[in-house]
Amino acid sequence: MDLSRLNAEKLIKNLHAGVVVHAPDSSIVYANPAALSILRITQKQALGHDVFDSQWNLIDELRKPLSVDKHPVNLVIKSKKPISNIELGICDGSCEEITWVLCNAYPEFDENNNLAEVVTTFIDITHQKQTIPFKEIVELANDVILVTEADPIIENGPKIVYANQSFTKVTGYHLDEVRGKTPRILQGPQTQQTTRDKIRHALENKQQVSEQILNYKKSGEPYWIDMNIFPLKNALGEVAYYAAIERDITKMKQYQAQLKDLTIKDPLTNLLNRRGFIESSTLALDTCFKNEQHLTLTMIDIDHFKRINDEFGHEGGDLVLQSIAETFKSFCDNNDIIARLGGEEFCIVSQDKCVSTVVKTLAKLQDFLKDNPVELPCGEYVSYTVSNGVSSLTSESCTLQGLLKNADKALYRAKKIGRDQTVVFNESLYGTDLKTAD
Ligand code: GH3
Ligand code: MG
Ligand code: MG
Repeated sequence: MDLSRLNAEKLIKNLHAGVVVHAPDSSIVYANPAALSILRITQKQALGHDVFDSQWNLIDELRKPLSVDKHPVNLVIKSKKPISNIELGICDGSCEEITWVLCNAYPEFDENNNLAEVVTTFIDITHQKQTIPFKEIVELANDVILVTEADPIIENGPKIVYANQSFTKVTGYHLDEVRGKTPRILQGPQTQQTTRDKIRHALENKQQVSEQILNYKKSGEPYWIDMNIFPLKNALGEVAYYAAIERDITKMKQYQAQLKDLTIKDPLTNLLNRRGFIESSTLALDTCFKNEQHLTLTMIDIDHFKRINDEFGHEGGDLVLQSIAETFKSFCDNNDIIARLGGEEFCIVSQDKCVSTVVKTLAKLQDFLKDNPVELPCGEYVSYTVSNGVSSLTSESCTLQGLLKNADKALYRAKKIGRDQTVVFNESLYGTDLKTAD
């Protein structure tokens, strides 16, 4: 098309880009409305001035004041050549409010090939310059950020469309390996079903959800995350994506478990302490009571332990305590709860085992202890016996406190009638021992 048909002045006036025409001495001879608006000056303030005697300052990309000879106009005047895409900041004296422009300039020559004008054009790029680089922040964030499509929630699950670098660092999967797959590939055998259900329920209802969940790395190693999933809507207001922000809390979970261990375990024998015993036994008692299963409680006390301490020192006594703890473990099964209640007094709760089974095991335990004295580092052997008091869950005695009290009575009786034996609690013991205790 023949562009000369266009009205050049009208075109320049309507341009969104700033156009400033300079005389060869750099003074401004024309500025279009966009230029005046970007430079925040009036026509009067512009015409006849050159850019260096006005109220604004120019700065370079690094925010350093632009020297006179580096100004686009002067570069063109000096070189007589065009320059393109120079980023400049225009600021008022305070430098607080900066207008960033992308500047181009070219020379115009007269018929004698002398420089007639320099035309500078610029566009406002302040918005692009000031836009916070959210993409980069997400990519470089320390937390895992995972984005899935919103549908389908059921069937094959929502599809992964984005995962940041931390995702790869934590899981070992690259985005290419998981793109299009469901985040459920991260779940595994120990991932809690209740947590999975809660997440699914929230997503089905397009709600935000926060949970701690056990996931699995590409290597199969489990890891704990604290995650927050929230729905993201598209321009039509429909939930189009879910974004999950996840923090690896494996170390914190391990630390919590260690702290918990400290509060419920006896450091000398690594058995449960009284607090741990009460916690575990109360649960076991409830289960056995509800399921009408047997539950038998045995209190075990080392006979004349003081003498062991006296003869072999406190360290010798400690080794005996550690040794008997190991022996208990070898006589018990996984379901049994073994605890050191204090000093040389232990307790075993046997679930789903009747009294006669437990009594038989205790007899074997007593024989074993007699046959296997504890060898001390000095080469000496410590022989000792134990006394046992047994109580069991009945409709009359169904609290942990009641069972402990009854076993204690039976133990007291065992001590009283000569030690190295097992006494099973029955109601008649109560009368006898209460009288004796008085
Ligand atoms: P009995 O046959 O009547 O049970 O006599 P005993 O000497 O075993 O009973 P007693 O309860 O009088 O003594 C328990 C001793 O256990 C007293 C205490 O010094 C000792 N003891 C308590 N805790 C520890 C411990 O952690 N290590 C050692 N080595 N001894 C302990
Ligand atoms: Mg004792
Ligand atoms: Mg004792």
